[in-house]
Amino acid sequence: MNTVHIIGAGLAGLSAGVALASTARRVMVYEAGPTAGGRCRSYFDRELDCRIDNGNHLILSGNGATMAYLGAIGARSTMRDPGAAKFPFVDLATGARWTVAPGPGRIPWWVMQPSRRVPGTKITDYLQLLALRKAGQDTTVADLLDRPGALYPKLLEPLAVAALNTPPSEAMARLLGAVVEETLLAGGAACVPLFPRNDLSASLIDPAVAFLQAHGGDLQTGCLVAAIHTEAGRVAALATTTGPIAVAPDDAVVLAAPPWIAASLLPELVVPDTFQAILNVHFRLGIDPGPVGFIGVIGGMAEWVFIKRDVVSVTISAANRYVDLPAGEIAARVWPDVQAVLKIDMAMPKVRVVKERRATFAATAAQETRRPGPRTRMANLVLAGDWTATGLPATIEGAIRSGQAAAKLVQAL
Ligand SMILES: Cc1cc2nc3c(=O)[nH]c(=O)nc-3n(C[C@H](O)[C@H](O)[C@H](O)COP(=O)(O)OP(=O)(O)OC[C@H]3O[C@@H](n4cnc5c(N)ncnc54)[C@H](O)[C@@H]3O)c2cc1C
Repeated sequence: MNTVHIIGAGLAGLSAGVALASTARRVMVYEAGPTAGGRCRSYFDRELDCRIDNGNHLILSGNGATMAYLGAIGARSTMRDPGAAKFPFVDLATGARWTVAPGPGRIPWWVMQPSRRVPGTKITDYLQLLALRKAGQDTTVADLLDRPGALYPKLLEPLAVAALNTPPSEAMARLLGAVVEETLLAGGAACVPLFPRNDLSASLIDPAVAFLQAHGGDLQTGCLVAAIHTEAGRVAALATTTGPIAVAPDDAVVLAAPPWIAASLLPELVVPDTFQAILNVHFRLGIDPGPVGFIGVIGGMAEWVFIKRDVVSVTISAANRYVDLPAGEIAARVWPDVQAVLKIDMAMPKVRVVKERRATFAATAAQETRRPGPRTRMANLVLAGDWTATGLPATIEGAIRSGQAAAKLVQAL
């Protein structure tokens, strides 16, 4: 049986492995870090004395590759599914609260019901979304969608920042269009927001590793691939921190490491080189904050507040503007927003600020031209990662699609 050697146990590498494990190949995954998961992982935090996710992750039911992956690894039921598309918001300036609730069908009858729309918006405002289909290569989200009225600041801007992790004045409208096409424009049934019942690793990572092992594959953590040796246009060996790994003539390699690592291993590769941070601020409340869920925040430093038992986690995207502030200052600035959202009045509890400095590549037109396809000049080496040319921004869905595309290429070798 030939072996597929996968470098990197993020979602791209794991999804490639899952797709290949049930074919007649042995899958070996080499991960530099102590655990699998990459930018989508959970761990025990000593300060908070509980497990947390590196950052809140939301997927939508229209993320087809992700849903198929969850099904394949038997983890679909580990995702919290509210059963309908509902996006609650609060405006901190006015205290107003509303819920955007797209109806399930493809035809957006829901925009006719004021109670399902953003307050102060008209039916015709929502037609702006169709303009995304005609966005030019260099058109930014702000160029296309920032129009007078409430729809942009109270829905489109927060959704765009969450999906693209890039300021709308720089973010590529076409990438937002690709997300919107498969979700909002596909109807509410494709917009049901899902997040893990327990944590990211329990839903998206650990079941995938178990699946690989059950199919004869394995994961080696603490195994950093430091060099790729080639011979006659093929990868012949990997140099790793745990020793050399021979790549047999009929073996294949999937390089699923982040772009800067991929470029260091394959110097001819052009990859995205500008990034945006995401901040997550986790507060261990010590009291029951109310029903599990999330809420979008308008007019605060906090952008999304996730309520998960007694941990409340705040997400701030496109966060290069804040990432160099001291953690204590970030927490102190975010805590009043959390109190307003939860309608509580208490001293700031234990907190952990997680700064993911290179959370995603910047979703700009310039970076888009730097995203390579999965093929390389080496006959037995393919690329995967949210930064490859998936047509989507850097998301779980993009990472998983890239892994599945890499697996298809490997099968065709
Ligand atoms: C805070 C945060 C919040 C996010 N929120 C969302 C969200 O709500 N929804 C959404 O869809 N997406 C979200 N994302 C994006 C999503 O997490 C990523 O798109 C996805 O996890 C990327 O997976 P990947 O496999 O492409 O890359 P990675 O997760 O970066 O995986 C690469 C792996 O390669 C390993 N590696 C690196 N170098 C080597 C080496 N030399 N040898 C071996 N292994 C190596 C790394 O340790 C890592 O495990 C978020 C990201 C962050 C950081």
